Amino acid sequence: MRLTPFLITLSLGLAPAPALAQTATAEPVFSPDEVRAHVEFLADDLLGGRDNGTEGFDIAARYVSSRFDAMGFKPGGTQGWYQPVNIADYVLDADKPASITVGTKAFAGDEDVLFGPSPLYGDETQILTADAVFVGHGREEDYAGLDVTGKFVVTLIGNPPGTPPGALDRPAIAGKHGALGTIYLITPDNLKGAFPWAQAVGYFQQPQSNWLDAKGFPKGENPGLKIGAYVKGAAADAMFKGAPMSAAQLYAALATPEAKTGSFALKQRLTLQRTSIVTIKKSSNVIGVLPGSDPRLANEYVVLSAHLDHEGTQPDIEGEDKIFNGAMDNAAGVASMLEAARAFTQTGKRPRRSILFVALTAEEDGLIGSEYLARYPVTGSGKVVADVNLDMPILLYDFQDVVAFGAEHSTLGPIVERAAAKMGVTLSPDPMPEEQLFLRSDHYSFVKAGVPSVFLVTGFKNGGEKAFRDFLKTNYHKVTDDIRQPFDWKAGAKFAKINYLIAREIADADQEPRWYAGNSFGERYAKDAPKAPRPAGAPATAPARSPAVITIPVPAKN
Ligand SMILES: [Zn+2]
Repeated sequence: MRLTPFLITLSLGLAPAPALAQTATAEPVFSPDEVRAHVEFLADDLLGGRDNGTEGFDIAARYVSSRFDAMGFKPGGTQGWYQPVNIADYVLDADKPASITVGTKAFAGDEDVLFGPSPLYGDETQILTADAVFVGHGREEDYAGLDVTGKFVVTLIGNPPGTPPGALDRPAIAGKHGALGTIYLITPDNLKGAFPWAQAVGYFQQPQSNWLDAKGFPKGENPGLKIGAYVKGAAADAMFKGAPMSAAQLYAALATPEAKTGSFALKQRLTLQRTSIVTIKKSSNVIGVLPGSDPRLANEYVVLSAHLDHEGTQPDIEGEDKIFNGAMDNAAGVASMLEAARAFTQTGKRPRRSILFVALTAEEDGLIGSEYLARYPVTGSGKVVADVNLDMPILLYDFQDVVAFGAEHSTLGPIVERAAAKMGVTLSPDPMPEEQLFLRSDHYSFVKAGVPSVFLVTGFKNGGEKAFRDFLKTNYHKVTDDIRQPFDWKAGAKFAKINYLIAREIADADQEPRWYAGNSFGERYAKDAPKAPRPAGAPATAPARSPAVITIPVPAKN
């Protein structure tokens, strides 16, 4: 893509805005041109696709902070407008294949052993030799009477009978017992369902990304393990040779209803070898604060979030255009968020609660910026009471309905309904539950921190279905998600307005949003928070996971 037409927009975009904050009118006006100008800037080739850790992202971040500044917001980061995040990119060194040696026989090359890369051991080959202990399902009680200090533990994957999904943190337990590393035994049964090996190989060949805490540990976790691996087939047979149970006997025992295997030391000494390549990058969330007007509520915060990053420039792809501009994903969301933010400054009436406007980094690498913000809040003694997230609204048609992911789980539902009704927009049920969209954007980091959250997308009515499906097929995460798409900027203003109305009502309400009683997200992540009675028709549980979604069950934390 050529960029000359946008150079003009660029220079205008950086000029100070004309005193927007001072214009007080009763009802805010939402401007299609404001939305257009933001998208044109953010999706420009000059920003190179806004990948976190690049200058293009930093320019986008500076653009957003300058808009926050012009709107009269307060810097809300830990360094002015910014909350810096250290991000590790790490990948296995393809030239130095990882391996497990059992006795004298080496297994390598993804056939029967599989490793993920590690962010902790870059550019040095790890070679670790030790004894191994089979610890069954890897629960606390499975370690009874065993000494695993300095040894590898070999454990099953999946949920043992009677353990709720996700409740078992095997690396944490292994680390607590002083294990050197974890080896996950992938049974023939696992291969048919929970652990599709070929997909897992593909997954672990990809570069991984994670945020690092101040000590350099990914996601702030360090169970103390140095290595992790998955084994199956001949490698597993060799590891269990001479043990109280052979691998085959183990698989047979697991096929019984009790699934009892016991725990025992293995006879074979193992050597695990792996080389990872690690790159550490710095990027930032950009945060502006509009302080609340009600002294009793001002220490409660409503977050309006939109991820600013996209997939950057990828020189290796075919064709002349190498830039993933991310016009819809998510320049459109950031632009709508900025326009909703501007609306708050136009009314002359500050919201009762404080609002945190956030342009997030590294969503595309796995919700990294939002997870970091949820883990390290910037609100001091204040509390985040809701997140309204904007991600990839399809601004190609005059939407007549919206889908509000998360609305059915909390009292945010009726708020969304009222906002939509004010605009003559209807609420539609999730047309693609198999896509699991509620779990796939930044609001989910807030959900995991116990915060009721909602995430709107434009609906299927009035040509929306075709627009959405065509976008997914043709432009989603492709270089063609750029400014040349036939944007409907009025839809951008409309999308800003509905999100504004939602955030405004949350901010002005007497009571903060609450999870519905019995809702699985609320029960799991906000156990002790007060709940609202569940209205008829609201679901108690999350939708079942689609079998098409690959479940890599136990990421090796090392
Ligand atoms: Zn994306």
